[in-house]
Formats: sequence, structure tokens, C-alpha cells
Amino acid sequence: MQKYNMLEEYDKIILESKSILKECDLCDHCLGRFFISSTNLSSARILGNKIRNSLNSRSVSKCYICKNLFSNIDHYVKMMQNVSIEYEFSTFIVKKTKKHIDHLLPDITFIINFRTEQCNVKTKPVFLYGRYIKDKRGLPQKGESCKDCKGKGCIFCNNHGLVSFDSVEGKISQFLYEKFETKQVKFTWIGGEDKTSLVMGNGRPFFAKLLSPKKRNVRLAKKSNLDEITIHTLRTIDVIPNGSIRFKSKIKILVSTKNNISSNVLKKLKQLVTVPIEITNSDNKYHKKTIHGLKYKKNSLQSFIVEIEADGGIPIKHFVDGSNITPNISDLLGTQCSCKKFDINQIYLSK
Ligand SMILES: [Zn+2]
Ligand SMILES: [Zn+2]
Repeated sequence: MQKYNMLEEYDKIILESKSILKECDLCDHCLGRFFISSTNLSSARILGNKIRNSLNSRSVSKCYICKNLFSNIDHYVKMMQNVSIEYEFSTFIVKKTKKHIDHLLPDITFIINFRTEQCNVKTKPVFLYGRYIKDKRGLPQKGESCKDCKGKGCIFCNNHGLVSFDSVEGKISQFLYEKFETKQVKFTWIGGEDKTSLVMGNGRPFFAKLLSPKKRNVRLAKKSNLDEITIHTLRTIDVIPNGSIRFKSKIKILVSTKNNISSNVLKKLKQLVTVPIEITNSDNKYHKKTIHGLKYKKNSLQSFIVEIEADGGIPIKHFVDGSNITPNISDLLGTQCSCKKFDINQIYLSK
């Protein structure tokens, strides 16, 4: 009975094959692949060859589906081995150029142009989370993007997208280029600071996306010293969280005033804790932030230090000089104030 069913199944395959081969020329492999799942056979090529023999069909000069790729498969496997020798990966996919198979997320993708015989590899990005501490003044947070490619990466910037590495972004990038053998790193910062600011406490959190790294299983030290900055708690994560990340920071601001300021007037600073801080962005978007705590100390007749614990995203310089923020320190004290420098003493991620 079983045998009879099998034969019936094979007759169906023969019949279908006949009409398929009438439409197009197929190699043994591609013909066999049509039916392999309904048989218990392990080789599509052998099945295809059996069918062809049953039909007395001649072998084809060029397969309609694979353009004879399968008969040259050893050659292409060798080519892929050659281009991927330096890469770490455990899953892979092969894409023909101009075809997209993006529902799979393999570690490595081979893109083969069968016309030019070129083979390129691209790996899945690696995502990282870490914090940096900056205990010396003078390093800007963000690097200078390449003007030729606007940061996308091109031959003029060695695919880095950056042209100068004298920044927090540049220092961390260079560290990661080496560790992960990657060309490009994209950062998501939790807040920002000035060139002259210090970032102390546990440091500023950041996310990094490494594009097409060759190494993915990299051992990361608890702490790495990169001259002006230290990075710590650096670890790989599955994905960078979507949307804006809420945080609070403790910031110490040195303010100078146009006119002499009395201790009595300075007392008004305390009012900032009781009201919402309303910010209008350059794109006319409106935000409300809160100052959760405030301390101040008079320094001289025309300067004082104020320390706030506040929601992330308050532009500190504007909060002092008064542009597009109400209330602000200048209006509150009734004299033009300016931010001489500010330091980040701590950053807390909101749960
Ligand atoms: Zn074929
Ligand atoms: Zn460039």
C-alpha cells in the first residue's frame, strides 16, 4: 500500500515536471528542488536527475532559475571563503545584487554580482551601551563629520564618516574601530555637554551602533582609559531602545552677571524648583521640564555658582541667558546673566 502511494506520488512529480520543463529549461538541482520536500530524499540534484532520466529529457545549457550557479557552486563557495576569512559569524545569507531578503537577520551577508564575479560581505551591526567620564576640559562631545559624504562614509574619510578624532565621539570611535574591526560607529547620546564641561560621577550614558564589524565576540574591559576620557560598563546589547530616553542630571553652573547681585536677590533662584520650565525649540516645539533640586553659592559681586538636579534636555546656556526658556535665570534675577561653564556631576536614567 505504502509503495503504491509512493509510486502514485512519483507519477504526479513526473507529470508536473513535464509541464514545467516545457515552459523553461532547468538544471537537475533546480528541478529537484521543486519536489524535494514531498520526498524523503536528501539530494535535490539526484532527484532532478532521476526525473530527467524518467522523462528522457536532455540536460540544459543554461538553467532558467540559477543560471547554472549550482554547477559552479564550488567556485562561489571558495570566493565567499576568501572574502570572509577575517570575519566572525555563525549565520549567513547570500544575496544576489539588487535582490532583497531582509526578513532574515544573519550575522553576515554575501552580495555576489554574478556578472562581474565580485563578492562583497556585510555583517549585522553590533550594538553597545556604555558610559564615559570626562575629567579634563577641552574635548568637544561630537566629532566633525566628513563634508564629502555628510557622515555616511566615503573614500575621503576612509569610510569613517568622521574627519577629526579630537572629540569624545572620535576617541570612542577609534577605540571601537580597533576592538571590533569596524569602519563606522553611530552614536546615540543621553544628553550633551560643552567642550569646556566636565562629565563626572558615573559618566554620561551612550549607545553605539557598529556598522559591519568584522569581530563580534569581543571581550570588553570594565574600564578603558582613552586619554581625556574613561569609558566604563561597556557591553553589547540586543538593540538600541526606540524614542527619546528620559534622564535626570546634576549640573553645576558658573554664572556671571552684568550688574552686581545681592544675596537677597539670589534667593529668588529657589523659585525655579516650584514651577515648570517651558522650552521652545528652534523647530517651534514646546517642552516642559522640571528642576527637582537647587543649591547656589555667591562667588563674587558679579558671579555665583548654581547646582541643579533637573530633567534631561534643558539647554543650560539658554536657561541662564534667557533665550526661549521661561522662567530663566536672567529674567528671574533682573540682570543679564551668562553661563561661564557648566559641569555634569551625575546622570541618572529614568526607569
Ligand atoms: Zn538551476
Ligand atoms: Zn566621507
